[in-house]
Amino acid sequence: MAIDIDHFLNILVEEVRNYQVPVVDLIAVQTKDPFRILVATILSARTKDETTAKASARLFKKVSDLKSLASLDEATIAKLIYPVGFYKNKAKYLKQLPAAMEEFGGKIPEDVESLTRLPGVGRKTANLVVAVAFNKPAICVDTHVHRIMNIWGYVETKTPLETEMALRRKLPAEYWIKVNSILVAFGQAICKPLRPHCDRCIIAGLCPQIGVIPRKVPGPKKNAKSNGIKRLISWNVNGLRAVEKKGFTDIVHELDADIISLQEIKAMPDQLPENVRNLEGYEAYWYPAKRKGYAGVCTYTRIKPLNVIYGMDIPEHDQEGRVLTLEFENFFLVNAYFPNAQHGLLRMDYKLAFNRDMHNFLDRLAEKKSVVICGDFNVAHKPIDLANPKQNEKNPGYSAAEREWMDTFTGAGYIDTFRKFNQEPDQYTWWSYRFNARARNIGWRIDYFCVDPASENRVKAAGILDHILGSDHCPVGLDFE
Ligand code: SF4
Repeated sequence: MAIDIDHFLNILVEEVRNYQVPVVDLIAVQTKDPFRILVATILSARTKDETTAKASARLFKKVSDLKSLASLDEATIAKLIYPVGFYKNKAKYLKQLPAAMEEFGGKIPEDVESLTRLPGVGRKTANLVVAVAFNKPAICVDTHVHRIMNIWGYVETKTPLETEMALRRKLPAEYWIKVNSILVAFGQAICKPLRPHCDRCIIAGLCPQIGVIPRKVPGPKKNAKSNGIKRLISWNVNGLRAVEKKGFTDIVHELDADIISLQEIKAMPDQLPENVRNLEGYEAYWYPAKRKGYAGVCTYTRIKPLNVIYGMDIPEHDQEGRVLTLEFENFFLVNAYFPNAQHGLLRMDYKLAFNRDMHNFLDRLAEKKSVVICGDFNVAHKPIDLANPKQNEKNPGYSAAEREWMDTFTGAGYIDTFRKFNQEPDQYTWWSYRFNARARNIGWRIDYFCVDPASENRVKAAGILDHILGSDHCPVGLDFE
């Protein structure tokens, strides 16, 4: 069914009037200054609007034009814009900006192709600057525009660039400039990336909802258990104290999950702030490593477990705080942080022993009821699961022995739930902090939700939430009946 795009967008223009304005538009309205709009747009990539607004305000107190920007060193810029995503790279780009602008006589260029020659300016940023700063026809396709246009079936595309090109062909010109601010505001407030709020969406009756799992309607009667589907999340946070400072509790609220399993918490519960130790709405179960600041797992749950199993009853593994199992009425949820084989594969023997013990542990549980295992497996299974398979064949995480174990595990019938739904390449859950790897999507898929062979039919959806920042891993999710 083809949608009436004029009707949809005209409804939403009125609807989003009262929503929070996307930060770049706000700065445009406040300043009408192309320099500030360009800088704020660079800062806004992979960063929450609230954080971008604060960082922009700090920077613009010291900087009003290219000359004052050139007078700051890179470290000072980094300090001013912290904690926007990739702040070190963005500081480097901003430091390079005055010199790069010489090619354009120190004037912000007004076309997409010229703008993309500036450091840190991709096509999305360039389109946004052209549209917002210069009010010229350009279509800025970010994740919201790409996602929502596909949900509506107005385009059928795999990447934002494909969406931009498809929209250039078919979207009426009058919407080019404004479609980004409309759909960003709408996407942030209602049609959210995770579990859109279809229950309060003004176009719910018209929207084809392609590929959408709406959020569960909150309320005492229609709560998480009303449709029997539980939303499970797993996330290697690489330090819970660090991620807490990057908005952990807001992220949890956004995830709206029934159970959240964390790995590499690197903290004892008493080292954490009260709002993390006793996360509102959840019961928390902790299994830190004996060694302080190392490994450790924790599971938050809205559903009270019948029983909790700490470790696998194997002291060699258990002292490292790697496995925490919650037993519910009709399934076990195993939260696991698999060992890293280490540089030079020095810990390979230990890792393979852990893997074998884990497989046996899961088999024993699966004799009683369904088993879901989630966590950082520290292995990319197939060439499709990492950006550079050839170069990593002898490296930890993709060595032959680790892949063989994964072959054995899945060969025994355990289901890698993500691949049940998605066969696309470039789908990763971990990126090195070095070489700007996340921005370039040079990553690895090493975080999984797997289920035992008999439970495949209970898997309703699985995904990677790579828009969520805060760790070098992103969360992965499973909807399980
Ligand atoms: S009905 Fe749901 S999926 Fe469709 S636009 Fe509204 S929130 Fe998005």
